[in-house]
Amino acid sequence: MRGLGLYPLPEGVVENTFSAANFYSPNGSKFSVTLSSPVTCAVNRARFDQFLAEQAQGAGAVFRLGERVSSLIVEDNHVKGVKVAKGNGAEEQVPARLVVDAEGISSRLLRQAGLQALMRDGLVYAVEAEVDGVCGVEDHAVEVYVGSAYADGFYGWLIPRLDGTAKVGLAVRRGNPKVFLERLFRVHPVASRQLKNAKVTSLVFHAISLGGPIPRAFGNGFLAVGDCASQVKPTTGGGVVFGVTCAKIAAEVAAEALRKGDLSAETLGLYQKQFMDALGFDVDVMLKARKAINSFSDTKLDRAIRFAQKVGFGKSLRDIDEIDFQGRTLLTVLRKPAAYATLAYLLGLYLQL
Ligand SMILES: Cc1cc2nc3c(=O)[nH]c(=O)nc-3n(C[C@H](O)[C@H](O)[C@H](O)COP(=O)(O)OP(=O)(O)OC[C@H]3O[C@@H](n4cnc5c(N)ncnc54)[C@H](O)[C@@H]3O)c2cc1C
Repeated sequence: MRGLGLYPLPEGVVENTFSAANFYSPNGSKFSVTLSSPVTCAVNRARFDQFLAEQAQGAGAVFRLGERVSSLIVEDNHVKGVKVAKGNGAEEQVPARLVVDAEGISSRLLRQAGLQALMRDGLVYAVEAEVDGVCGVEDHAVEVYVGSAYADGFYGWLIPRLDGTAKVGLAVRRGNPKVFLERLFRVHPVASRQLKNAKVTSLVFHAISLGGPIPRAFGNGFLAVGDCASQVKPTTGGGVVFGVTCAKIAAEVAAEALRKGDLSAETLGLYQKQFMDALGFDVDVMLKARKAINSFSDTKLDRAIRFAQKVGFGKSLRDIDEIDFQGRTLLTVLRKPAAYATLAYLLGLYLQL
């Protein structure tokens, strides 16, 4: 956010800041990391989006609320605008020299632009609950629950606020995430204690694309940004920082293309090159990490977490000040002996030694 000129955020947007994380294996073994300073924050998402919207408006953006793009106008393989479904059932044609698609995970318009839709095998299905009455958690630590018994193919999370409320969620590769969430609440050796008196006040469901950015997020007169282009961290599923980073690149490439009057795919392809230069290395490392973690049985995860705690791997991570670009962070961490020991142990487990 700082790098993008968006920090500090206005009052009321940040709900909590975090400098620690506790990771739990399925049998309740714990591995803790405490950083020397806060490295991430939880935002009130509605207020955060409102803040971004105000910035956009200040720069000249005009919002048309209560209307949806029903389809793209495509002529001779060139996107020429959108058709908008209005609240009263009418449809309006809106011509445009360039369409930037930021429709989120549905990626329906992406297909109409002739681009490859998100790969189904890269998707996980998430549920997140707002809860009230969490107990036994630290104020500035995120709780993470790993293992296929509770979150097959992903992980579960608890993100506390200072008033005893929290966001609790998980995602799974297959099956009903709500069933897994109920199991986390009732059966998990640690989460069940933290949530024993908690009341769920709301639930949301959403897919997350973990396969890394799509190979082509541009066409003639068309760019795709954010979740619809799978600009999401394959390890954590976080899409805000990657999405906003790519949106900035998209805006710069779009402005230059409009100035030159050349909206061809050839010119707009610079967007793909620039965002892959910015994210490509980290995405590669994260894809490999995700694949390795997914291959671990719950028993191996129990052993890995116990080992990491025993050798003090958490201390190697103490000075981390960056958790979004995780490939680069790993290179920094690798200078520490406990990190080597842990990674060697994980590699051993991965190779089933
Ligand atoms: C439970 C959960 C927790 C998450 N937690 C985090 C987190 O802690 N950190 C993080 O970085 N990321 C998190 N994410 C991911 C993050 O929310 C997304 O990556 C991010 O919102 C993507 O932004 P986006 O603008 O691409 O898409 P979205 O935020 O999905 O926005 C797409 C917008 O387009 C609109 N739209 C869709 N179709 C049309 C249409 N045809 N016409 C007009 N409008 C349309 C939608 O209504 C929506 O407003 C989480 C996701 C989930 C599901």
